[in-house]
Amino acid sequence: MDFGLGDKSVLVLASSSGLGKGVAGEFLKEDACVTITGRSEERLEGAALDLERMTGRRPRYMPCDITNPAELKALVAFAAERTGSVDVLVNNAGGPPAGTFESLGDEAWTGAFELTLLSYVRAIREVLPMMKEKKWGRIVNSTSSSVREVLENLILSNTFRLGVIGMTKTLAGEFAPYGILVNAIGPGRFDTERIRQLDRALAERKGLPLEEVSAASLGRIPLGRYGDTSEYGKLAVFLGSEANTYITGQTVISDGGMVRAVP
Ligand code: NAP
Repeated sequence: MDFGLGDKSVLVLASSSGLGKGVAGEFLKEDACVTITGRSEERLEGAALDLERMTGRRPRYMPCDITNPAELKALVAFAAERTGSVDVLVNNAGGPPAGTFESLGDEAWTGAFELTLLSYVRAIREVLPMMKEKKWGRIVNSTSSSVREVLENLILSNTFRLGVIGMTKTLAGEFAPYGILVNAIGPGRFDTERIRQLDRALAERKGLPLEEVSAASLGRIPLGRYGDTSEYGKLAVFLGSEANTYITGQTVISDGGMVRAVP
């Protein structure tokens, strides 16, 4: 399939590791001009080298805290430097802290809103004029399987990611006249530091051995394994490419069959 990404500029937020890095890698394989970002320059340098080793193509990178509007604005300008625009935006963010309603105060709620929802709003606002001018754009908002089935001890994720889904559906309508398709994707359980950290936290909270917690978690996945981040990347590539001409406003969950809810 021709994804038509060779002349496209792609910006992937929160991409120095994990899912964002996996997504960036798949866009690089399609010869796109990819910009990755994260807060640590050192981690970004390492990720850029890794991605070059894996794909034969080097991403551009710029440190940015996506909760900082000025840094985000500068990042979008940097990502647009080579081709004059950002054609594909993949919104992604670090995970909000785990916790229950009674364990989290206003600071955690405000921080999660800024990280998982407002950063997406701001990034979209920055790329919109470029996409409108080109009459072409793809926006892929990464969320979580929690938008279909809430996750224990993750009330912040369960709450704010649904806001992203509401925004995605709304923007699909508002941006369709500009040739911009907007979709959301959500991971079940992919093998990343975030998932290892959540498993460790759950094991500690329940006083169980980590192996037991991980085995129970794998047992809920019909395909019997955590996903590889490149598998998530392939989904983002399709939705964020020229091959996708008629899918907008949708949410696609990649979870090896884990979520049993019917959409
Ligand atoms: P990860 O491996 O911990 O990677 C998170 C990435 O986000 C890193 O590159 C990190 O880089 C960056 N980041 C964090 N805060 C940032 C900020 N303020 N500004 C810019 N970059 C920031 O996590 P992951 O597993 O890939 O997960 C990505 C997202 O998907 C999270 O929101 C997570 O909750 C969600 N999710 C993941 C899974 C899964 O299976 N992995 C399942 C459901 C939902 P720096 O630390 O250098 O900034």
